[in-house]
Amino acid sequence: MDVSHLLDSLNDAQRQAVAAPLAPALVLAGAGSGKTRVLVHRIAWLIQVEGVSPQGILSVTFTNKAAAEMRGRVEALLRIPSASLWIGTFHGLAHRLLRMHWREAALTQTFQILDSDDQTRIIKKVLKALDLDETRWVPREIQWFINAQKDEGLRPKHIKDDGDPTRRQLIKIYQAYEDACQRAQVVDFAELLLRAFEIWRDNPSLLAHYRNRFRHVLVDEFQDTNTIQYKWLSLLAGPDGMPFVVGDDDQSIYRWRGARVENLNQFRRDFPGTQLFRLEQNYRSTGTILKAANALIANNSGRMGKTLWTSGEDGEKVRIYAAFNERDEADFVINRIRDWSQRGGARREVAILYRSNAQSRVLEEALLNARIPYRVYGGLRFFERAEIKDALAYLRLMSSRTDDTSFERVVNLPTRGIGAKTLDTVRAHARANGTSLWAAAGASIRELPQKAAQSLNAFLSMIEKMQAETQSLELHEKVDHVVQASGLIEHFKKEKGERGEARIDNLAELVSAARGFTLEADSELSPLDSFLAHAVLESGEAQGDAWDDCVQMMTLHSAKGLEFPVVFMTGMEDGLFPHQRSIGELASLEEERRLCYVGATRAMRQLYLTYAEQRRLHGVDTFGQASRFIGELPAELLDEVRPRVQVSRPVYVGRKNLEEPTPTGMRMGSRVRHGKFGDGVVLNFEGNGPHARIQVNFERQGTKWLMLSYANLEVV
Ligand code: ATP
Ligand code: MG
Repeated sequence: MDVSHLLDSLNDAQRQAVAAPLAPALVLAGAGSGKTRVLVHRIAWLIQVEGVSPQGILSVTFTNKAAAEMRGRVEALLRIPSASLWIGTFHGLAHRLLRMHWREAALTQTFQILDSDDQTRIIKKVLKALDLDETRWVPREIQWFINAQKDEGLRPKHIKDDGDPTRRQLIKIYQAYEDACQRAQVVDFAELLLRAFEIWRDNPSLLAHYRNRFRHVLVDEFQDTNTIQYKWLSLLAGPDGMPFVVGDDDQSIYRWRGARVENLNQFRRDFPGTQLFRLEQNYRSTGTILKAANALIANNSGRMGKTLWTSGEDGEKVRIYAAFNERDEADFVINRIRDWSQRGGARREVAILYRSNAQSRVLEEALLNARIPYRVYGGLRFFERAEIKDALAYLRLMSSRTDDTSFERVVNLPTRGIGAKTLDTVRAHARANGTSLWAAAGASIRELPQKAAQSLNAFLSMIEKMQAETQSLELHEKVDHVVQASGLIEHFKKEKGERGEARIDNLAELVSAARGFTLEADSELSPLDSFLAHAVLESGEAQGDAWDDCVQMMTLHSAKGLEFPVVFMTGMEDGLFPHQRSIGELASLEEERRLCYVGATRAMRQLYLTYAEQRRLHGVDTFGQASRFIGELPAELLDEVRPRVQVSRPVYVGRKNLEEPTPTGMRMGSRVRHGKFGDGVVLNFEGNGPHARIQVNFERQGTKWLMLSYANLEVV
């Protein structure tokens, strides 16, 4: 077979990795060196040269977007449909397994997936049932605890309380939560993985079947696998397996969510004879961008050590913009995008990156005003919008009557006279008999006052009726029928103004999403169940591909693995990025630096770093200084777009000057109190007169710069 074509577009090092003998392999290499490209070519190589059947390949990527891209690339290389390949995210693949083996997983065929919000709701219910106070047992923290246990592969019975009463209580809540999910037949994200692991661990013949089938397991972004993902992979590969994994320790950015970069070393221990490949040539970025990124990451300790070079040109300098405030920052970004478009660049080639989702709002407003189309990845996600979840809840309930979360969501939406008292009766009934709310509703009708009974009965029959009526309809017709017949459209029509209209538009969009939905080739699921799973699993990503030429907006985390000709990293202020809570701890600070490295290495030709001296975020004004990460870049690579008259680094005023702006006798080290931020210690002053600013390290809120004249600080 002529394979020259397959290896043509690769350099020597890449070629060696792609054509490596059938044995475990680890490609450890920096950003933009072609790791993902190697992985895709390896798949093609296995099929075309090693004669592996496409059904024998399982490939894991980090996002659905990456999975779709990988499918496309494999198809282009091989000119075969990629549907028979198992390419997906860990969650997507685990879900697929559980759907096929729901019996082994002790689930019903119609189990539903819980997103993070619904998970919080269930935890709140569990707390209530256990009579625990939410201020003491904070639902979000409990959620964090439960997910962390699952990510480590631990069930309640595996966890020791070590005589600690708080821990004992947490374990009890975890157990109660698990019971509630099992009763409702719902599975949260972490559970997908844990259960997929357990069905293999506990069913030797099932495991043997999959080991035999998937002799070739490939993983992209391996540095961000967590414990359970690693266990799942190792179990599948088995002691004689030959996984092919690619990763970069410098791009490990999910430690905070349980990712273990040590898995890179663990892998080499667990799979003796692992072939190690290193790629050093970067094909993505200009020399300048690469030098800047290399200089930045050099500040981290304990790196595995890699070199990256490019044969490309140096290109333009990294542009730094010090904005007055967040609106000035947005204007700057918009003007640069206009320039880019005017010179013939496409909008989709531009990415705006930020540390946290909340930062996107101001940028979005500015883009809207400027009539520049954009698309936000993550953030307010289509499938997570309230009205979409309402419609999905009806559909989920039609598919699975035990889904209590959905039941609660829509039983009285739109209002149909089912009040809190009725629901309490139903809930009590469900608790007492260990049944679903649906079953309890049916059973408790006789105990209810006549009117309540009628309303409840009407709801139950409506769901039954909708299911019967839509039985033979196409998926999108089903969805359409449900948004109408449920009364949701009518309900949102009553909502005043644009909000209601937007909701109705979104429901229409849901119908068209259903129309455009394509089933996976060998899916065991009904189209409806498949669509419902897709809605939960895909919710974190693109909001449909309806608009072609859009500016891309996303958090730094979700930019991993992607590349864009022009990249704006916005909000480059200390406290925002690196994030306030990471500054004090070296390991967290280094993770933030890796995140910065990931951001910078997304850029192919132009990289902009912008920060605002004053920023209003979450309704609070803060005065920031340039991120320390900017300070870590070699000055000769930078171009300050608007040179500051003043230095933007903190100016340490001498002791004598200190007395001037501080008639109240505040000095460095003074303890002060702020109406909102509480107590803190004065760290610094800057400027004088009405522009004087003061830096305070607040005990609970961290370090902030405040305008002295507005801050109303009180010396304590
Ligand atoms: P990241 O660490 O960011 O995930 P990566 O190592 O996976 O990066 P790729 O995305 O595979 O890198 O490749 C980066 C860019 O370089 C892509 O546009 C890719 O097509 C291109 N590229 C990689 N290898 C070559 C090559 N040998 N010749 C030409 N272009 C290449
Ligand atoms: Mg990659």
